[in-house]
Amino acid sequence: MGDGTMNILRDSTLIAINDKVEQEIPVSEDDALYMLTTSDIMGLAAIAHKVKTKLHGNSVFYGVNMNLNYTNICILRCPLCAFSRNKDDNDAYLLTLEEIAQRIHNASDIDEVHIVGGLHPDLPFSYYEDMLTTIKSIRPSIHIVAFTAVEYDYLSKKFNIPLDELFQRLKHAGLGSIPGGGAEIFAPEVRETIAPKKISGQRWLEVMEVAHRNGIKTNATMLFNHIENAHHIVDHMKHVRTLQQKTGGFKTFVPLVFHEQHTGVRAKRKEPTGFDVVRLYATARIYLYNVPHIKALWMYLGEKLAQVLLQCGVDDIGATYYDEKVVHSAGAKTPAWGSEPFLQHLIRNAGFTPVRVNASYVTTA
Ligand code: SF4
Repeated sequence: MGDGTMNILRDSTLIAINDKVEQEIPVSEDDALYMLTTSDIMGLAAIAHKVKTKLHGNSVFYGVNMNLNYTNICILRCPLCAFSRNKDDNDAYLLTLEEIAQRIHNASDIDEVHIVGGLHPDLPFSYYEDMLTTIKSIRPSIHIVAFTAVEYDYLSKKFNIPLDELFQRLKHAGLGSIPGGGAEIFAPEVRETIAPKKISGQRWLEVMEVAHRNGIKTNATMLFNHIENAHHIVDHMKHVRTLQQKTGGFKTFVPLVFHEQHTGVRAKRKEPTGFDVVRLYATARIYLYNVPHIKALWMYLGEKLAQVLLQCGVDDIGATYYDEKVVHSAGAKTPAWGSEPFLQHLIRNAGFTPVRVNASYVTTA
């Protein structure tokens, strides 16, 4: 063990976890629970950083993209959501295809467009297909990462299109990959409170499995810092790890810190502590040995904490996210978008090499 990790490990359980990592033995759920509560975050971060370095060397990935939240009208109105509106609310909106086209024309430097929206009651299926083909016709090289598992489930049921066919049709229209939203926390007892009408965790996993079967890579998210406990977090990651063993279709795990402002959920914790966040990301890196990337979205966490996480197992700091609406509706205080030099500076300043990629980790500069 010549990497120096052993020099800072004092805790016998972390030493045993480090031994497993050295021998490439997946750590257990009990190990994950321990890591989520240890106060030895320096030792934990060192193990996670070793895993990250083995996978990606000194590289840290970032993207230059635009968010396209095509509508905030949603029939579900989940308690956790500050973004959604009813159709007759004053600030409800739906972008036309012409407005979407204009936004793509205006964002000349982006490599990728990230599309999510509410479950609109009236849109025809052609709106979704035409949205993708319109974007591709303007910028054929653009990578489209679009629609959460919740939206796919809705479209499949509403238009009576089996998921396999749905994915094939949208792939044909230009879909490149799928974001990991809607996962929240899989445990039913938590989901019932924060998103009672949303698809179950089991259904979310089924939708992802079908996407993977159709050759579409996806992310997996996890919403934390509301009413969940460490057992719920481990249970969530266990489901991701298990499906990944079967399909290999997850490229990135993305923990999302919950912001409660303007939502219907009263979180137990208003802000996560720095230790909580380090423990969570480092544990994810070590436990999810089979998921290639761990992303810390600077926009959710704040750029300072996201930068620190680059030493704690994180290899992806997110993207410029021009025109992001969802998390800022819930009170995130970071700027609505960061420039490319801003992200490069964060990464270089932490001692890493910035690598610009799209959502499939294809280098774009
Ligand atoms: S979280 Fe998604 S599904 Fe739930 S209300 Fe908001 S937009 Fe709709």
